[in-house]
Amino acid sequence: MYADIIVDISAEDLDKTYQYLIPEKLEDLVRAGTPVVIPFGKGNRTISGYVVDISDKPRIDPGRIKPIVSVKDRENSIDSKMVALAWWIKEQYGSTMNDALHTVIPVSKKVKENVARTIISAETGEELKARLGEAIRKKHVAKKRFLEELLSAGKLDYNLTIQKLNISASVIKKFEDEGAIKIETARVYRNPFSQTDRSGYVKPVLNEEQTAVAGEIIREIKEFSAREKENAPGYLIHGITGSGKTEIYMAVIDEVLAQGRQVIMLIPEISLTYQTVKRFYMRYGDRISIINSKLTGGERYDQYLRIKRGEADICIGPRSALFAPFERLGLIIMDEEHEGSYISEKAPRYNTREVAFKRAAMEGAGVILGSATPSLEAYTMARSGRIKLFSVLNRANNAVLPDIHVADMRSELKARNRSIFSRELKKLIDDRLQKHEQIMLFLNRRGYSGTLSCRECGHVIKCPHCDISLTLHRSGQSAGQTGPGIYKGQVPGYQNDPEHSTMVCHYCGYSEPPATVCPKCGSKYMGSFGIGTQKVEEQIKAEFPAARVLRLDADTTKNKNGYEEILSAFANEEADILVGTQMIVKGHDFGKCTLVGILIADMSLYSPDFRAGERTFQLITQASGRAGRGKLKGDVVIQTYNPDHYCIKTASQADYNAFYEEEMSYRKIMDYPPARCMLTVVLESQDEQYVIDRSAELAEMIKDKLAGNKQFRRLVGPADAPLYKANDYYRRVVTVKSGDYGMLVDIKNFVRDWAENIESQTAGKLRTDYIFN
Ligand code: ADP
Ligand code: ZN
Ligand code: ZN
Repeated sequence: MYADIIVDISAEDLDKTYQYLIPEKLEDLVRAGTPVVIPFGKGNRTISGYVVDISDKPRIDPGRIKPIVSVKDRENSIDSKMVALAWWIKEQYGSTMNDALHTVIPVSKKVKENVARTIISAETGEELKARLGEAIRKKHVAKKRFLEELLSAGKLDYNLTIQKLNISASVIKKFEDEGAIKIETARVYRNPFSQTDRSGYVKPVLNEEQTAVAGEIIREIKEFSAREKENAPGYLIHGITGSGKTEIYMAVIDEVLAQGRQVIMLIPEISLTYQTVKRFYMRYGDRISIINSKLTGGERYDQYLRIKRGEADICIGPRSALFAPFERLGLIIMDEEHEGSYISEKAPRYNTREVAFKRAAMEGAGVILGSATPSLEAYTMARSGRIKLFSVLNRANNAVLPDIHVADMRSELKARNRSIFSRELKKLIDDRLQKHEQIMLFLNRRGYSGTLSCRECGHVIKCPHCDISLTLHRSGQSAGQTGPGIYKGQVPGYQNDPEHSTMVCHYCGYSEPPATVCPKCGSKYMGSFGIGTQKVEEQIKAEFPAARVLRLDADTTKNKNGYEEILSAFANEEADILVGTQMIVKGHDFGKCTLVGILIADMSLYSPDFRAGERTFQLITQASGRAGRGKLKGDVVIQTYNPDHYCIKTASQADYNAFYEEEMSYRKIMDYPPARCMLTVVLESQDEQYVIDRSAELAEMIKDKLAGNKQFRRLVGPADAPLYKANDYYRRVVTVKSGDYGMLVDIKNFVRDWAENIESQTAGKLRTDYIFN
C-alpha cells in the first residue's frame, strides 16, 4: 500500500503530494489523517508530513518509492485529520489546497489571542507613594497620573490605562521592570450568557415520540462505540415544525457527552437566534462554544482555542462549525439539513452534508440530519437504507396543526379582484385584527423576477430541453443582466416588454422571443412579477389602515441586530402584521400568530433552477409551520396561480411523501440530482469572444471524452451563466450530467489541466470554477 503525503502546509505549492510506501508494520496505523515522519531530500534528512490519501497503485517506479519512517504520536492528530479533510474537499469540489486548508483551519495563526490584562501593584502603598513623590518632583506627568490612579483604584485595566489615561506602554513596562507593578493576564471568551442564571432550568420530559427516536439513536450509538465499527451510524429525523427535534438532539448529545466525546451542532445562521443559543446555554452552560459570521477574527480564534484546549464539548454554529477541532468527535448534528446556506457559495464550494459524513467517517462519529422538509438528497439516502429514517408527525407541546386553505388567484382576477389579497385572506386578516391575534404575510421571492408567466392560467414559459423557467434578458444590454422590463400597468406587479427582451435558458443557451400571448390559454396577461415587500407593506396600509405593520427583509435588517429587533418587536406584540421574505419563516415562536398568508406561492416556482419546486415546497411548509404554534389554532392561506401544481398541492396537504415521489420522477426524467450527479464548469474571461470560443471548444472535448461511457447522461450548453458578467468577467457554463460522481471529478481534473495549460500560454485570460450539484 502507498500513501499520498503533503509535506509542509506552510509551503507555497500545497497542491503537490508525494507518494511513500507504507511498511507492513505500520499498515494498521496509517490512514488519511495520520501524521507521519518521512525521509525527504538528500541524505538522512527526515521531516513530518500528513497522509491525505491511500492507494494500492504506485504512481512512479515502485523501486523508487521510499518507505514511511514512523507514525507520529497523537499530539497533532487533529491538525493532520483536518489536512486530510482539506485534501478530500479540494479533490471533491475543485479548489486549491490553499483555499481548502483555509476553510478547515479557518483561523489564521497570526491572529492574537484575546486576553484581558490587569495591572496590579507589586509594592506596598508606602513604596508607591514614594514613587509618586519622585514623579511629582521630576515633573513626570504621565507617571504621576498613572500612580495616582493605581493608588486610588488598586488595580487598572491595561487597555483602559493606555486608551483612557493616555499612558504609553513603555511607561507601564518600565514600572513592571522595576518591580513596582505586575500585569496579570486572563483569557477572555465572549459569552453573552455568562451572567445568566441557569439554576431554574429543568430538562423537559420527552414525549412518547421523542423518547422512541432518541432512545433508538442512543442505543445504536452506545452499541457502535462499544464495537468501534468502521462506518458510523447516520440518521434522518423528518419531524414537522415544532415536533421537538431540538429536544431529541439534546437527549442524544447528553449520551455522547457522557461517553467523553464531543458534538458539533450545525444550525443555519438565520435560525441561530438568541432564543436558540440560550436554550443550549441553559442546558450545557459554558461547555458550549458558539460560532457565527459576526464574530471578529479574534473572537473566532478564542472559540477555536477553547475547543482545541478541551474547554468546550459542543460547538454550535453554521457550516464553518463543522471544522471545530475536536479531538474525540462523537456526533455531528445538522439541523434544518435542507437549507441552501449549507452549500458554500465560494470556493471550495463544498456541500456541508457530504463533508459532515466524510468527517464523521474519519472520526467514527455519528451523524443526525434533521428537517421538516428534508432535501431530496437526504431523503433518498434514507430510502436507500444508507441512513436510518425517523418520522415525527405531531407537535411536541400538543399544539394543533393549522388549517391550510388554497386561494386560486386566477379566479380572483376573474372576479375583478385585482388586490394582492384574495377575498379569503382578506376576510381572515380582518378576523384576526378584530381578535387581536397576529398575522404573518410572506413573500417567497428568491431574488427573481425575470420569468414570464400567465396571470390568467398560471402557465410559466420553460426551456423545452431543461424544463426550467426561461429568464428574461433585456436586449441591448449584455445577456444575463436580467431586467424585469417596463411596467405596463395592466395588473399590479406584472411586467413585460417584449420589444426589448429575449428569453434565455441559462443551462443550455436556448432562447426565444418573449411570449405576448399565453401559449396555453391565449390570455394577454403575460408578464413577470416585480412585487417586493415594500409594495406589500403599502398595500396593507391601504387596505387595513388600522393595522400596525412590521417589515422584515434585506433592507430593514441591514444594521447588526435588525433581524433580532424586528422579530422581538413582533414577539412582544408591538405589531399586528409582520410582512417579509423567507427570513420570517425561521427563529422565534410567536404564540399569538394564528394566520400565515403566503402571498404568491408560485414566485419561487418560477426561479430558473431545477430545485425551484423543492424550494417552493420547503418555503410553503416552513411558513405554514409558523401558524398556531401556541395554544390558539392557526390558519394558513396559500395564494397561487397554479393550484394544481404538485408542489403547491402536496405542500397544502402536508404530504411530503407524495411531493418526494413526484419531484424525484422529474429529476430522473431530466437527469437532475439526486437522480444523477451534475457538474457545472464555469469559464470566465474578460474577453467575451474568447470565453465563447473556449467554452464551445471545451464542450466538444468533454463530449468526445465521454462518448460511449455508460454512466454519461448528457452535456448541456455551453450557455451564458445566470450572472453573465461580473467584475468585468464574462461567464459561460458547460454542464455535465452523469450517473457517477467519480466521472465528474475526473472531468473537473481534466478541465483544470486543460485550463492550466492555456493559462501557461496566455496569462490571466481564462479562469475556471466548478459547481457540483
Ligand atoms: P423543532 O426543533 O422540531 O422545531 P422544538 O424542539 O423547538 O421543535 O420544540 C418546539 C416547542 O415545543 C418548543 O417550544 C419546545 O420547548 C417545546 N417542546 C419540545 N419538546 C417538549 C416536551 N417534551 N415537553 C414540552 N415541551 C416541549
Ligand atoms: Zn394562460
Ligand atoms: Zn435549456
